[in-house]
Amino acid sequence: MSKISLNNICKRYEENEDYSVKDFSIEINESEFIVFVGPSGCGKSTSLRMIAGLEDITSGELYIDGKLSNNVPPKDRNIAMVFQSYALYPHLTVYDNIAFGLKIRKLDKKTIDYKVKKTAEILNLTNYLKKKPKELSGGQMQRVALGRAIVKESDIFLMDEPLSNLDAKLRVEMRKEILNLKNKLGSTVIYVTHDQTEAMTMASRIVCLNNGIIQQIGTPRELYTNP
Ligand code: ADP
Ligand code: ADP
Repeated sequence: MSKISLNNICKRYEENEDYSVKDFSIEINESEFIVFVGPSGCGKSTSLRMIAGLEDITSGELYIDGKLSNNVPPKDRNIAMVFQSYALYPHLTVYDNIAFGLKIRKLDKKTIDYKVKKTAEILNLTNYLKKKPKELSGGQMQRVALGRAIVKESDIFLMDEPLSNLDAKLRVEMRKEILNLKNKLGSTVIYVTHDQTEAMTMASRIVCLNNGIIQQIGTPRELYTNP
């Protein structure tokens, strides 16, 4: 059974005449690393946000773990999302930023503490737990954003250009970290990027979008070595 199945998904924002996503269909298997690529405005974020439940689906069916999920609220989807903008809470410490999603779930304090510290260890953030986001570098903030997603132990990660604000060196480092984490957790990842190198080095399959339509789906080898 595939983890995520999109069946002719379409999206038209109410105020727009045109569709932003047209007949998007794909079967995503467990532990795949799917990358969406394509020019700005082609529908990458919209597609991701529909899978997360942050945007209504105009027509078509979304299945997550075999369950029709079009109307399942985001918090019930077992999905963790990482945004380009980090989306950290500026007034909270690194510890509380990472703990936030667990507090909402009303886990007990001891369990939260264990999970937050374990996550910080994986991401080399142990020495920064008491700091606020404004005291961190871009790479550290990016790690906190990842930490907030990882700590929930969801088995699906959606990442919308999670490395676009980093410099080249850090981007390469973080790519490796994301792949390591993915392998460690065995998660399914859908990852949006503009960056062709990122797509080629990370993806199990790449989805090329243009104008809201899938142009091609294939492995990096299929797409970039046989023109
Ligand atoms: P990117 O190309 O990096 O995805 P965008 O500039 O397309 O960034 O989008 C940034 C944010 O603005 C997103 O949350 C998106 O949903 C929203 N957005 C994009 N286009 C429009 C629009 N025409 N009207 C309202 N919001 C939009
Ligand atoms: P990408 O992520 O590939 O840059 P988006 O999914 O952000 O593309 O946008 C796809 C299309 O949908 C664009 O034409 C954009 O203007 C439009 N769009 C995105 N978000 C909104 C929104 N919140 N309201 C209206 N139109 C939007």
